[in-house]
Amino acid sequence: MEGGTNTSWSFQKLLKLRREAHTVISSGATSIREIWEAIRVKGNKVHWHNLIWFPLHIPKHIMIVWMTFLDRLPTKNRLQHMRIANDELCVLCKEARETRNHLFIECPPADSLWKAILLLSGLKRPSLTWDNMITWACNSWKGESLLTTVLKIAWSALIYSLWEERNARLFKGNSRSAAQILSAIKDIVVLTFTMGKTDLDRDKMKQLVDSCKAVGA
Ligand SMILES: [Zn+2]
Repeated sequence: MEGGTNTSWSFQKLLKLRREAHTVISSGATSIREIWEAIRVKGNKVHWHNLIWFPLHIPKHIMIVWMTFLDRLPTKNRLQHMRIANDELCVLCKEARETRNHLFIECPPADSLWKAILLLSGLKRPSLTWDNMITWACNSWKGESLLTTVLKIAWSALIYSLWEERNARLFKGNSRSAAQILSAIKDIVVLTFTMGKTDLDRDKMKQLVDSCKAVGA
C-alpha cells in the first residue's frame, strides 16, 4: 500500500535524523564547523573542500553551499523523487526542471549573473556544466590571492542568493531583478573584505571596494 510505504520511509528518515541529532548534541558542538565535524562521514577530504573551508567564508553561506555541493538541498527535482511534490518547474526561468545543476549553473539568470561577476573580476569564460565548474574552480582557485578569494566569496554568495531568491519567489511571492541580485552580491563581497580580517594587500582591497562601488552597487 502506498501510504504504508511512505510512512515506513518517513519513519526510517526520522530515526536516521534522531541518530544524527544525538551525535551532534552529545558532541557538544556549537559552531557550524564543529557540527560538520560531528556529522560528517570521516574519511578522505572531498576534492572541493577548499571551496567550502576558507578564510572569510560567511557561515550562513557555508551550510547552503555545502548542501548544494552534496546535492542535498530540497530542490523540486529531489522533492519529486521523494514523492513529496509533483511540480518540477524552475521558478526562476519557468522553462526547465529545477535540479541542482539547472538552478545554480544552467538556468539563464544563474548563467548571466555568474558571467557578470566574472566580468567584474576581469575574466571572461564560456558557460560550464556543474562538474566542469567544480573542476575549474578546484584547479584554478588556489592560494589566497585577491582574485581567488573574491571568486570564492562571490560564487558562494551567488549560490546563496539564488537559493534565497528561489525561496522568496516560491513561498513569499517576492522577486528581485538580476541587477538587484548582482548588487546584493557585490555588497556581500565588499562587506566581507571590509569587515573581515585578512592579510591581503590593503591597496588592492581598496581598489576592489572602489571598483565594486563604481559599477553602481
Ligand atoms: Zn531555471
